[in-house]
Amino acid sequence: MATSSFTKKSLGLESPEPAVTPPPATSPTTFVKKPKLPSRKSRKRDIPEGLWTKCPKCATMVFDKELDENLKVCPHCQHHFPIGARERIHSLVGTCTFEEMDASMTSVDVLNFTGTASYISKLEDYQKSTGLKDAVITGICKIGEHRAGLGVMDFTFLGGSMGSVVGEKLTRLIERSTEKALPLIIISTSGGARMYEGMFSLMQMAKTCAALAYHAKARLPYISVLTHPTTAGVMASFASVGDLIIAEPGAMIGFAGPRVIKDTTQAELPPGFQTAEFLLDHGLIDAIVPRKELKPRLIEYLNYMTVGKN
Ligand SMILES: [Zn+2]
Repeated sequence: MATSSFTKKSLGLESPEPAVTPPPATSPTTFVKKPKLPSRKSRKRDIPEGLWTKCPKCATMVFDKELDENLKVCPHCQHHFPIGARERIHSLVGTCTFEEMDASMTSVDVLNFTGTASYISKLEDYQKSTGLKDAVITGICKIGEHRAGLGVMDFTFLGGSMGSVVGEKLTRLIERSTEKALPLIIISTSGGARMYEGMFSLMQMAKTCAALAYHAKARLPYISVLTHPTTAGVMASFASVGDLIIAEPGAMIGFAGPRVIKDTTQAELPPGFQTAEFLLDHGLIDAIVPRKELKPRLIEYLNYMTVGKN
């Protein structure tokens, strides 16, 4: 049926100028065919994209709305999907209690770094795609009855990498918490230091830890929450020095990646190496807390850790 209608149309096209363009039999057919294709596909396009997400652990198709309502945790196998910093904050703090700090702080390209793309263009791209200025959001909030300093990292912004802005925002948060005698919670997810800022990103490791030392000296509690993945420079600095270190189930936590360790040590790595569960067994972390239980558990921990302070 389709071919007959094509030939009819093609005859109509040919008629006005047969002498100028003696057309090969195929070309008009392909010319007419094109508009037909989208109309056939349009039925499929009626289904909005991104309505379902396939769980990488149990391979079930999960309805996105259900996933959102479940704080991005698979309702079938409890796999923890990544969650954005703002969504995380929303799930933890009391309504309208979050006072964001340094919301507009952005990185400067001190090294004039250019790889496959310039650092500045990368920053602009990520700022547009994520709606964030950098890979961490910090502020003072209320969790349960406790006022606390809260920093939440976001992996979608350049792999949650720690550059000078992440370091500076966290340091200011820690210092503000010390000044106001508040407990501190930092929720990490990071691929490590930001290579685009070279030494400036490495310096953030010492800076954040120094600020934390003053916070500890004031006998104020710091809870570090490790989420998938927390690695390298972030794990080697502020994320691993919490008074209490808790992690989400299945989170990958470590310094160097397993391949690098295997190549360096030439040793077979034990099963489950660098998972939250493995690290709990070996004493690096204190507890594994599912995302949906995080808020009540943080409140419970703060109750214990701030006895006699409020
Ligand atoms: Zn699942």
